[in-house]
Amino acid sequence: MTFQGFAFDNTFARELEGFYAPSEAAGFKAPALVKLNRPLAEELGLDPDALAEAGPALFSGNTPPAGATPIAQAYAGHQFGGFSPRLGDGRALLLGEIVDPQGGRRDLQLKGSGPTPFSRGGDGKAALGPVLREYLIGEAMHALGVPTTRALAAVTTGEPVFRDTALPGAVLTRVAASHIRVGTFEFFASRHDHGPVRKLADYTIRRHYPASAKAENPYFDLLVAVGKAQTSLVARWMQIGFIHGVMNTDNVTVSGETIDYGPCAFMDAFDPATVFSSIDRRGRYAYGNQPGIVMWNLARFAETLLPLLADAPKAAIALAEEALGILSEHYEQSSLEGMRRKIGLQKAEGGDGELIEALLGMMESAEADFTSTFRGLAKVLRGASADEALQLNPEELAAWMPRWRARLDREGAPADAIATAMDGVNPIYIPRNHRTEEALEAAVQDGDMRPFDALLEAVTQPYEERPSLADYASPAPPEFGPYKTFCGT
Ligand code: AMP
Ligand code: MG
Repeated sequence: MTFQGFAFDNTFARELEGFYAPSEAAGFKAPALVKLNRPLAEELGLDPDALAEAGPALFSGNTPPAGATPIAQAYAGHQFGGFSPRLGDGRALLLGEIVDPQGGRRDLQLKGSGPTPFSRGGDGKAALGPVLREYLIGEAMHALGVPTTRALAAVTTGEPVFRDTALPGAVLTRVAASHIRVGTFEFFASRHDHGPVRKLADYTIRRHYPASAKAENPYFDLLVAVGKAQTSLVARWMQIGFIHGVMNTDNVTVSGETIDYGPCAFMDAFDPATVFSSIDRRGRYAYGNQPGIVMWNLARFAETLLPLLADAPKAAIALAEEALGILSEHYEQSSLEGMRRKIGLQKAEGGDGELIEALLGMMESAEADFTSTFRGLAKVLRGASADEALQLNPEELAAWMPRWRARLDREGAPADAIATAMDGVNPIYIPRNHRTEEALEAAVQDGDMRPFDALLEAVTQPYEERPSLADYASPAPPEFGPYKTFCGT
């Protein structure tokens, strides 16, 4: 079957004039399809075989699909704390919105398709390594149940991109609930242009939070709704040892989806100070700082909404502060709830936070692997020796174990059932940094996609132990050394 096209309905382009610049893809000589996300295609109601056939021309941007309105979106952003009033899609093109069979609306965006009016001297392009990295980690996050943008396809362009060296060029096709960011609000708010901010807020409510329209103060409700989505998201990141690496406000979606997998990575040994990104020299976006940073980013979002919250500035500030208080509390709740489940607790008791903190303290002092420790706890419940299943200090462990066991007794469930529930929330397979690097290197240097596909297979069923995949469950060997990541530019 040939590709029938997308049923586009481009509300952003239609309703938000002034929030974008029309643009087009650069056009590439020899595009080739490297990956097509068949399960996602099916979820979107698209025929994967037809997409594969149309793929090179379609996903490189060479042939824009019928009904597309290619635009580059405008946004600003606080980057590492400093404000940039004009960023925007410098290397991305929103083709349009598709409505899936369940009625969900998703943006279809090309990333790396060439310069736009927002490129600021950049080439607008992307290299194959970062494109595949975003594909892989997005799919892993999705399988882990973490809200995320997803890759529908990756193509190589047949042309090099020049970074430190020449690298194979590529384009990622990304699907997202939307690409509206905190930075999109900041773009207009920083110019004190309140009309467009209201327009964008109303659009966001219609598209993402329709219940807010009925609230007494819809904009207060929007702030709380976005904030809850974002704080829940960061709580999920913390529970899987994920470090985003570049939590600038232009990378914070109002939908609550994880976006922009540039320098992100997963932590092996538990240490809240872990930073992988080479440009994050002061550790602003370290693992343990992420909860504070999401609140900082939400404060920037609240500032953009001040004129909408109330007429009197004082009243508006009071409402913003009230919302931030609610959100800070929401983070704590969401974090505690998730961590409880990681140690097998469904019920809530007052001392649970302390019990969890004590475990994390032991993990930190022993430099224990974050992911394996939680799987190890379930093994102990199934009868394994704690000293063997857990790489923790035996004396500290001997003090902690009886506290945990006594707490589990009050759950009133058989140990086996608790262990099974724990394995359902504690992944065994995450994209380990050394595995990710190995997969990207094979793809980029040798055009060999087998390691990538094998890793993708492991991390897209992250909770189900498969003996043949034992190698994917271990942390990096010592010779892998300290890990550094780079922004995917
Ligand atoms: P990112 O680090 O990917 O979130 O990008 C931050 C900003 O830099 C965004 O405005 C991007 O569009 C822009 N940008 C990143 N890489 C490029 C590039 N190669 N060419 C043009 N703009 C870019
Ligand atoms: Mg970005």
